[in-house]
Amino acid sequence: MIRVSEIFGPTIQGEGALIGKPTVFVRTGGCDYRCAWCDTLHAVKSQYRDEWKPMSAEEIWAKVEELSGGQPLTVSLSGGNPAIQPLGPLIALGKSKGYEFALETQGSIAQEWFAGLDTLILSPKPPSSKMETDLSALDKCVSNAGSKAILKFVVFDDADYLYAKEIAARYKALPVYLQPGNHTPPDGQGEGAVDMDGLMTRMRWLVEKVGADQWFSVTVLPQLHVLLWGNMRGV
Ligand code: SF4
Repeated sequence: MIRVSEIFGPTIQGEGALIGKPTVFVRTGGCDYRCAWCDTLHAVKSQYRDEWKPMSAEEIWAKVEELSGGQPLTVSLSGGNPAIQPLGPLIALGKSKGYEFALETQGSIAQEWFAGLDTLILSPKPPSSKMETDLSALDKCVSNAGSKAILKFVVFDDADYLYAKEIAARYKALPVYLQPGNHTPPDGQGEGAVDMDGLMTRMRWLVEKVGADQWFSVTVLPQLHVLLWGNMRGV
């Protein structure tokens, strides 16, 4: 069984290589990380565990087909860390119906079934997350996904930027996406609140940094869904 936090859509993919593409999200529950700025705590912290529903691949697939009206699109597997769930059968089922699959993970756990994905977004967590990167696990993720892997980095500051450059240099063949970090606003500002001024300031800083550094192979993007809906769940 697969632990599911939420299934929603169709909406658009809000970040990275598939930005703007219509998609249905399957967000799994549980994560082996605890990033300092995680913006999906409802799919991470054990206090939300009661909301996570164990579902079979067939049950999830029925919901995806209902939401997409049976029209093939890209299914985004997210979390939490979806790599800790047994998603191989779900991917095989969806692919047999003409759907595509993208999965985003920090790259801490490599699965053989990554080979069945159309896109594996590896988002190793930079120093501001307060997490350590297991490079051997990341190597294995890249090798399991082959040409389907891309790198995406959240960047809050200079240390994060340097980290992104170092990891990108390790995997020279992979496309690289950078996005400005999204600080969760202090408690009391309401669900979905976002520090938009801070976000835009970091976006401008990141664009200038990449230009000054002449890192021209990279793509810099904001999180489109945050610009549209803030940090609301289920959009
Ligand atoms: S890896 Fe992702 S889901 Fe897990 S704690 Fe970090 S930001 Fe949150």
